[in-house]
Amino acid sequence: MSSWETVIGLEIHCQLLTKSKIFSSSSTAYGKEPNEQASYVDLGMPGTLPVLNQGVIKKAVQFGLAINSKISKKSIFARKNYFYPDLPKNYQISQLDHPIVQGGYIEISGSENSIKKINITRAHLEEDAGKSIHSSENNCTFIDLNRAGTPLLEIVSEPEISNAKEAVLYMKKIHNIVTYLKISDGNMQEGSFRCDANVSVRKMGEKKLGTRTELKNINSFKFVEKAINYEIERQINLLEEGKKIIQETRLYDETKGVTKSMRSKEEANDYRYFPDPDLLPIEIDENYIIDIKKMMPDLPDKKEKEYKTNYEFNNEQINILLSDIEITKFIDQVLKISKVNAKKIVNYFISSIYIKINKENLCFSQNMISAEDFCTVIESIENKIVSKSYLKKIIDDIWSNKNPVKDVIVNLSSNHEIDDEKINTLIKITIQENKKQVEEYKSGKTKIIGFFVGKILKKVDGVDPSEIKNKIIKILDSI
Ligand code: ADP
Ligand code: MG
Repeated sequence: MSSWETVIGLEIHCQLLTKSKIFSSSSTAYGKEPNEQASYVDLGMPGTLPVLNQGVIKKAVQFGLAINSKISKKSIFARKNYFYPDLPKNYQISQLDHPIVQGGYIEISGSENSIKKINITRAHLEEDAGKSIHSSENNCTFIDLNRAGTPLLEIVSEPEISNAKEAVLYMKKIHNIVTYLKISDGNMQEGSFRCDANVSVRKMGEKKLGTRTELKNINSFKFVEKAINYEIERQINLLEEGKKIIQETRLYDETKGVTKSMRSKEEANDYRYFPDPDLLPIEIDENYIIDIKKMMPDLPDKKEKEYKTNYEFNNEQINILLSDIEITKFIDQVLKISKVNAKKIVNYFISSIYIKINKENLCFSQNMISAEDFCTVIESIENKIVSKSYLKKIIDDIWSNKNPVKDVIVNLSSNHEIDDEKINTLIKITIQENKKQVEEYKSGKTKIIGFFVGKILKKVDGVDPSEIKNKIIKILDSI
């Protein structure tokens, strides 16, 4: 197997975050009743004309600038003709010869901390198709055109990715850029960010590319990795048996973990591309690009370097901080105003607000806690005004019950004092009740402390186990 090498190129379809569709005024909101958001334009009615949504141009340019590409001063929409029931016009408006974003690259961390550059061929604008819902129960297919006309940016990489892990890193990096720039919501469950993976293998050292297959519409990082690995093995096995790879489109079956043939691949010219006569070329002048450049935030790569050099945050922490630009802004604000150690700040954040967001499937923009309030909370914990074990409760109280931060802390801190007395009494009672374990402790088996800690934790909430442990030791040593 080691005499083979893998070549992968990804086509990522990224849904651009606009209120209305790319060529019509229908809403792009997800999850509405079927066909509620399909206008005459989306239905492909004769006599209707597409009108370009300007918002998509700005987003495409932002992406282009983020990946060091050349922005086309003139780009053209083309018709890609094919018959498909969920695209009633029988052509898709896309771009071929003159895409809005040309060239560019991103960097991923390769093996042994090396940096690998992956070149991007192009990124072009196009409209999405609707959805066909096949029903075996009714023996028919339903068509939902709500998604038809949703703006997409298709990002095409050069065939320079060498394995499934690199493909995932590449995809994550692009995901990070588009969500960070708020070009897309990046929601993979809803299909806002999905990819086609082109996979081929060739003999080590061979210059010519092998015949590829295209794995369509994969919408999770986990499945991209699994589907590619399955496909590499399938192709190598076929070639080793002296068989040929058929250039085709395949689908990944998530439940069985295999790829299956879907259709043999059409040649690009089957689509009879030609410039769409209904749409003018997009002309972009230098000043427009300069203005967008000025408004670009720091990109994830730059922030990553800053977090590493200034604070030595680890990769896991950095991934969380950079998963949403609002989180980055929040943490930067806290780092600026709080006296607490930077790593501690991040740990407090992850174990409270971040966990809450994930558990309750919320979005950081729904966060109800200001950076100032968060500072008050963590400083109260650091100064031992309130127990650390109350952290989640405090965040919940401020967030869900909208109680002022000071009230929440004062309430819990008085509790904290009462607890102290109560806990000491509890410890003394527990010691009295468990003489055998006390003897063990006295004979040097200090691990038995865990037994007492466990007993106390069962009886009281909101206490810090390490504080309890110290209290128990103090009392045990005094008897
Ligand atoms: P199409 O639009 O028909 O899918 P393209 O030629 O535009 O085809 O290529 C699409 C993607 O496939 C690109 O990301 C490219 O890097 C990748 N690709 C092309 N040939 C190969 C190959 N032999 N092996 C792996 N990837 C390939
Ligand atoms: Mg393709």
